[in-house]
Amino acid sequence: MKLLAGNWKMNNTLEEGADLMEALIEGLPAEVVGDVRVVVSPPFLQLPQTVHALWENAQIAVAAQNGHAADGGAFTGEVSMAMLRDAEVDAVIIGHSERRQYFGETDSDVAEKVQSALRNQLIPIVCVGEVLAQRKAGTYLEDTWNQLHAAFARVNPEDMSDCVIAYEPVWAIGTGEVATAAQAQEVHAYLRAQMEATFGVSDMPIVYGGSCKPSNAAEIFAQPDVDGGLIGGASLVAADFIALVELLKAS
Ligand code: PEP
Repeated sequence: MKLLAGNWKMNNTLEEGADLMEALIEGLPAEVVGDVRVVVSPPFLQLPQTVHALWENAQIAVAAQNGHAADGGAFTGEVSMAMLRDAEVDAVIIGHSERRQYFGETDSDVAEKVQSALRNQLIPIVCVGEVLAQRKAGTYLEDTWNQLHAAFARVNPEDMSDCVIAYEPVWAIGTGEVATAAQAQEVHAYLRAQMEATFGVSDMPIVYGGSCKPSNAAEIFAQPDVDGGLIGGASLVAADFIALVELLKAS
């Protein structure tokens, strides 16, 4: 399955988010989207209006950028996966490197969130990726697999095909420095082979994220183990995100 997800991060007012959604709905009719699964991931406060804007448009799915592992309770400031499902959200990004870096999310937190997402019928979009020091040390395959293995260790293999893996080398996120197509393919192929060898499941989409934009995406999307992208900066510009959907469809 080809999949393109836009992570809006902590950007846009309600009105700006609504305008961006309107432009995406207009620019992404069924014939443009084709066989690409398109996902947008606005901030929490914009989720209800985004879901509402998409009620008559099955072309685009909605993901949250985070969710708490518990279904409810005394966790001030948090939003549970159960609440996301109640708001008709389809998916949730889990373990984004910014969550790990700025909010101290551990592999164990990520594993609990993946289980909670599945329990609440949300598609987990699980992010993994090495930091620059690990890339330079040559341990990036092992380091990235360790994150992924931890995320899925307690998941029933029957549920794994319903998940999405995002390989996002941390050194490429928001830096303008994109991985080469060969670098992305190497890690994607490795992760897929490890998933098959360890859990017997390898048909989930594995998407690439890190400074992807229309000018550099075609070669990455053309790789056999790259099933699409998780897009940050370029997902805030409707024309760029639409162009990325078209590139992925053509790949
Ligand atoms: C991301 O945050 O998931 C991401 C890939 O960001 P950017 O495209 O801006 O590097």
